[in-house]
Amino acid sequence: MILMDNVIIIKFGEVALRGSNRYILENRLIEAIRRNIRPFPEYRVTREIGRYIVERADGGDFDADAIIPRVSVVFGLVGLSPALRSRDTGIAALREAALISAREALAENPAARTFKVAATRAHKTYPLRSQEICADTGGFILENIPRLKVDVKNPDITVKIELRNYAYIYSRFIPGLGGLPPESCGRALTLLSAGIDSPVASYLTARRGAYVESVYFHSPPHTSERALQKVLDVCERLAVYTGGYKLSVVNITPTHTRLLERTPPEKFTILLKRSMLRAAELLAAKNGCDALVTGDSLGQVASQTIKSMAAIDHGLNLPVLRPLLGFDKREITDLAVKIGTYDVSIRPFEDCCTLFVARHPETKPKVSIIESIERNMPDLPQFWLEAAEKAETYEF
Ligand code: ATP
Ligand code: MG
Repeated sequence: MILMDNVIIIKFGEVALRGSNRYILENRLIEAIRRNIRPFPEYRVTREIGRYIVERADGGDFDADAIIPRVSVVFGLVGLSPALRSRDTGIAALREAALISAREALAENPAARTFKVAATRAHKTYPLRSQEICADTGGFILENIPRLKVDVKNPDITVKIELRNYAYIYSRFIPGLGGLPPESCGRALTLLSAGIDSPVASYLTARRGAYVESVYFHSPPHTSERALQKVLDVCERLAVYTGGYKLSVVNITPTHTRLLERTPPEKFTILLKRSMLRAAELLAAKNGCDALVTGDSLGQVASQTIKSMAAIDHGLNLPVLRPLLGFDKREITDLAVKIGTYDVSIRPFEDCCTLFVARHPETKPKVSIIESIERNMPDLPQFWLEAAEKAETYEF
C-alpha cells in the first residue's frame, strides 16, 4: 500500500513579489484562508516555501467540493490545485499517482486526447532526473490509458510532479480571483445602494486588499424596506469573499425631506449625494476608514459627469474613490453576474437616488450655487451628524 493523501496546493503571486511587506501580506492571506475554512475544523493550512497547503488534520477523507469553493474566493491567490501528496517518492508511487491524476483530468475533460508529464525536483539528490521521471510515468500512463497520446508542446492534460519533502502530483489548476490579501491595504467605507454598480465597486476595492465596510442610506418612507433588504442580501454575497462584512444603515430621512422641500428639482440629486458623502465622512471617522468609495462611472447619469462629481466632492476631507469610473455598464453588469450580486441588484424596489430623479437633471452644476442652496438649510450638518451617530450596524 502506498501512502498518499489529498491536499490542495495554494499558489499566490503578487504577494510574493512585495519585498519587506511580504510577510505581513502572507500572514493576511493565510489568516483569510483559515477564516474561510473555519466551518471545517478538521482541515488545516500549512506553509511551504512560496505556497500553502490545505490538508486534513485528522487523516479523514478530503472533501474537495466543500473546501475548494471556500478557498478559491480568497483575494490574493493566483490559483489552487487539488493534488495527491505522497510521502513515498519512489518511482512506483509516482507512477501510480500520475495515473490517478491523469484519470481525474480525463474525467473532468473527457474530450482530452493528449497529455504530458512535467516534473520538477527541489532536491537534486533524487536518483532520477526530471526528464527520466517524465518519461517513466508518461509511459505508465500511455500503457494504462491507451486513448491518450503524448504531446509535449500543446497537451490537453498536463500532469505535474513536484518532488519536495513529499511528492505532489496534480493536473488541475483552478484560477483564483487575483488581487491582494484581505485587509492588507487600508480601510475604506463604500456607499452601497440597492443598484448594480456599488456592490461591484465594493468588491473591487476589497479585491485590491482594502478592508471594506459599507454604509446604506435608508430613507423611509421615501424608500422601502425591500430596498434595504436588497442591500442586506448584497452584503451577504460580499461576505463570501471577505469572510465577513459590516454594514451601517443610516437613516437619511430628515435630510431627504428637507432637500425635497427646498431644492430645485434639477439640483436635487447633486445635493442628496453631497449630503450622503458628508454623513458618510462622519461615519468613516467614527469607524476608522480613510476613504469613501462609490459606484460612479463617468457619464453614466447626470450626477456622474466630471463637473457633477466635482460639485459633489467639494469640501470633503476624505478622498472619494470611484473604482468603476472607466467601466461601461455592460462590463459592470458582467462583473456583477460573476461575483453573484446581480440577481439581487435587479430585483425591483429602488433606493432614493433612482427615485426623485428630475426630468432634466443638471450636468454642469456650479459649486457656488450648490453651496448657497445648502446654506439656506442650516440644520443639514446637524442632520448628518445625528444620522451618522444613530447608524445601525449589521454584521454578516
Ligand atoms: P448603483 O447601481 O450603485 O446604485 P447607480 O448607477 O444607480 O449606482 P446612483 O444611484 O447615481 O448610480 O448612485 C451612485 C452611487 O452613489 C452609488 O454607486 C452608491 O455608491 C451611492 N449611492 C446611491 N444611493 C445610495 C444609498 N441609498 N446608500 C448608499 N449609497 C448610495
Ligand atoms: Mg442606484
